[in-house]
Amino acid sequence: MRVVVKFGGTSLSDGKRIRNAAELVKKYKGRIEEMVVVASAMGGVTDELIRAAGRAKAGDRPYVEEFLNGFSERHLDAIEEAISDPKLRAELAERVRADIADLGRALIGVSYLSELTPRSKDYILSFGERLSTRILCGALQDIGMRAEYFTGFEAGIITDANFGEAVPIFELASERVRAALDGKLKDGSIPVVTGFIGGTAEGIVTTLGRGGSDYTATILGALLNADEVWLMTDVNGLMTADPKIVPSAKTIRRISYSEAAEMAFFGAKSLHPRALEPVSEKGIPLRIRNTFDPEGEGTLITKEREGGDKVVKAVTLIRNVSLLTVGGAGIVGTPGAAAKILKVLGDNRINVLMISQSSSEYNISLVIPRASSKEAVSALRRELKNEGLVREVTSEDDVCVVAAVGAGMRGTPGVAARVFTAVAKKGINVRMIAQGSSELNISFVVGESDGADAVRAIHEEFSLGS
Ligand code: ASP
Ligand code: MG
Repeated sequence: MRVVVKFGGTSLSDGKRIRNAAELVKKYKGRIEEMVVVASAMGGVTDELIRAAGRAKAGDRPYVEEFLNGFSERHLDAIEEAISDPKLRAELAERVRADIADLGRALIGVSYLSELTPRSKDYILSFGERLSTRILCGALQDIGMRAEYFTGFEAGIITDANFGEAVPIFELASERVRAALDGKLKDGSIPVVTGFIGGTAEGIVTTLGRGGSDYTATILGALLNADEVWLMTDVNGLMTADPKIVPSAKTIRRISYSEAAEMAFFGAKSLHPRALEPVSEKGIPLRIRNTFDPEGEGTLITKEREGGDKVVKAVTLIRNVSLLTVGGAGIVGTPGAAAKILKVLGDNRINVLMISQSSSEYNISLVIPRASSKEAVSALRRELKNEGLVREVTSEDDVCVVAAVGAGMRGTPGVAARVFTAVAKKGINVRMIAQGSSELNISFVVGESDGADAVRAIHEEFSLGS
């Protein structure tokens, strides 16, 4: 059996946890012949690096100095805790110091130039995974495992040069990944690979987007024809709802790729939006498991949808969005009006989460990330008003999106009625509705303060807690 096992940041947040992860790998390795380990940065580190890069750009050198001290202390402490062999410890500490010196030079460079390009930002962010992965690899060696460190690039993950959101070039990556790792695996050694980072064909560091270590794991799983990919996290799996909103929320035992994709897309923070692609194409099962409950089954994501009687399997809430309304008689009966609106948003790199237009064609409503709302409004006004296409562009920020997900709603009449009746009974007003023709997901917009109640109402209506 061949498995790719990825550890998220909370599973590696200090030396003790890193050691714990190493011991878990050792235990699993007893039953699994071929294992690749993928590691995220230590919990919170990527956010810290982003902040430090921003402060560096602003020329705040004292902040950068202080950050580097704390950063190096945290990683050196982790080495002390995770590794007992003095020689291994010393070697690793030296490597980590050298890496942090490189990071320091990059940050100081940014501060002198007051410029942070996407490319230099990726380089800076890559240090989180480089350090955590080195330490995890050292911890494995320390407990007698044959483990070998690889950056994503060294492991063969060749990507395009879309820094910050790079995508692998599979034609190149597939051969390289196999060449780099296949032999090691057959040999019984454990490649320990940095999550989140890849490299262009020329070897320039790229990152795969926030949460990208999941993606690293599924890319490797697909290219190495793994039997399964496991994402080790700090929850028991995908849940029927956010337990902070619905205390009775349950772990979902089995779910299909397409259902999980709906949940991932709608912000179930446990999954990178692209992570499912590589494994679903190859039909490789993806398991989400809890590092702190290692014998728990977690959630198994496969091709087949489980026969179960649940039409709705989960309900999610997306905050930090805005509802954008573009209106005007110019849209009515004008072919290409929607395309123009979307093009303006696309050109300004504004992501669209939901779209809806009624058959009167008088308005087009869109849901976008709240952070882009001002920019979206001014771009649309600037670029479309002159054309006489739109009369009014408005945005409302006090909204959120609720989504009910489940493949069982496809072709089952009455699901939407139950969803909206449950919400209406709580006196909640629905502002916009969208359902794709895949019928895997009913999404709607409500006022921000109504979001949690709407989630609870649907969770209860479909008895997801039992
Ligand atoms: N460390 C990266 C992040 O926080 C990647 C990951 O954790 O998956 O986004
Ligand atoms: Mg993370």
